[in-house]
Amino acid sequence: ILKVEHLNKFYGNWQALHDINFSLKKGEVLTLLGPSGSGKSTLLRTLNGLEDYEDGKIYFHGKEINPSPKQWQALRQKIGMVFQSYDLFPNLTVMENILLAPVKVQKRNEDEVRKEAQKLLGQVELADYADAYPRELSGGQKQRIAIVRALAMHPEIMLFDEVTASLDPEMVRGVLEIIQRLSDNEHMTMIIVTHEMNFAAKIADEVLFLEDGKIVEDTPGKEFFAHPQTKRAQEFLDSMD
Ligand code: ATP
Ligand code: MG
Repeated sequence: ILKVEHLNKFYGNWQALHDINFSLKKGEVLTLLGPSGSGKSTLLRTLNGLEDYEDGKIYFHGKEINPSPKQWQALRQKIGMVFQSYDLFPNLTVMENILLAPVKVQKRNEDEVRKEAQKLLGQVELADYADAYPRELSGGQKQRIAIVRALAMHPEIMLFDEVTASLDPEMVRGVLEIIQRLSDNEHMTMIIVTHEMNFAAKIADEVLFLEDGKIVEDTPGKEFFAHPQTKRAQEFLDSMD
């Protein structure tokens, strides 16, 4: 569903991503691991058109993406992203936040989207919060809404960038459970950046381990957590315990 070939990205003169190659199959969960500053967020943002890139190719369903703002705007409806900061619109209610893009951008029928949104809210155990404002929610609740908001667009791929990093420990599990269920029940295709190693070990079909903007290792999830191929990845895993 997604393929990246020889991707290079610079911030000014400094190269942030070096010759990135990988592919993602429909239904697959890819986890990006690596130390701080290794380029995980940069790579995810590039895959969502939030960063441009100097060379290399990205294919979606076998078709090369033409890296124009217009094409990315269209693609962002198919490739959803959730960030560490949930960035809900503070002046809109939960329901208004969720309806905004499907109704305004995708021009879908408001009543239908509302119905679906209500169902999604139920699935994340926030059925009673449709009329609440973001400030009335806890961090974990806001993050669950941010996920629902992305799902309401019917994306084909979801990108998660450390979505639990700013949450209190007791809020983390609920959010991770939703992502796990998306994989188990909906077979959602996902790329996940996380520092939650137990979660990564459970959910990852494939692990990309990055350092200094390079893929050091690309290994099936089970194998990576049992015995990574590189010493660098082993050190990283040891440091996470
Ligand atoms: P973390 O685990 O801390 O989130 P990361 O792996 O997500 O780290 P990135 O945020 O992708 O790392 O950053 C990779 C490198 O690119 C870092 O050295 C960072 O300083 C640099 N960088 C990121 N964004 C920019 C930017 N807008 N301009 C210049 N350099 C940047
Ligand atoms: Mg990051």
